[in-house]
Amino acid sequence: MRSSGKSTPVRLRDVVGDGWGVTLRGLDLTIECLAGWHPLIRQFAADAGRLLAAHPGTWLEFRQVKQKFGGLRIYFETQAPDDVAAAILARKDAIQQASFFKCEVCGSHGTTVSKDPARARAVSTRCEEHEDGRIFYWGQGMEYSPVATARFRRKTT
Ligand SMILES: [Zn+2]
Repeated sequence: MRSSGKSTPVRLRDVVGDGWGVTLRGLDLTIECLAGWHPLIRQFAADAGRLLAAHPGTWLEFRQVKQKFGGLRIYFETQAPDDVAAAILARKDAIQQASFFKCEVCGSHGTTVSKDPARARAVSTRCEEHEDGRIFYWGQGMEYSPVATARFRRKTT
């Protein structure tokens, strides 16, 4: 799967599904990462939903789900009791850490690569097939930008 041109925006609810009631909120936000990490996001939602279900009335609201510095980042707020919130945070940390070993494009084993360490946007986690000497630029609307690629290439060679 090569990405070029605009990618279709994916909403969080498209990945984690409906049926969370008021437990998981903020599902209309747009996910700013590729499909290889969707299973990790689903896993986090399932874990958080299960932890919250044991405490009726508690909820978690997603603020942002994105790629940053080559890893998955999940931001949320919760009013769950401290011990429940700590358990959810621990799950989040584990899942974010796992993303550094999964190709963001396809989900198979990946490594975090950078063509230009000075630029966080040039860092990505990819398998060998999808790394392909490319630099992925996370501009507005997650558009793959050949212009940015050319610019980064000139700078690094
Ligand atoms: Zn891949």
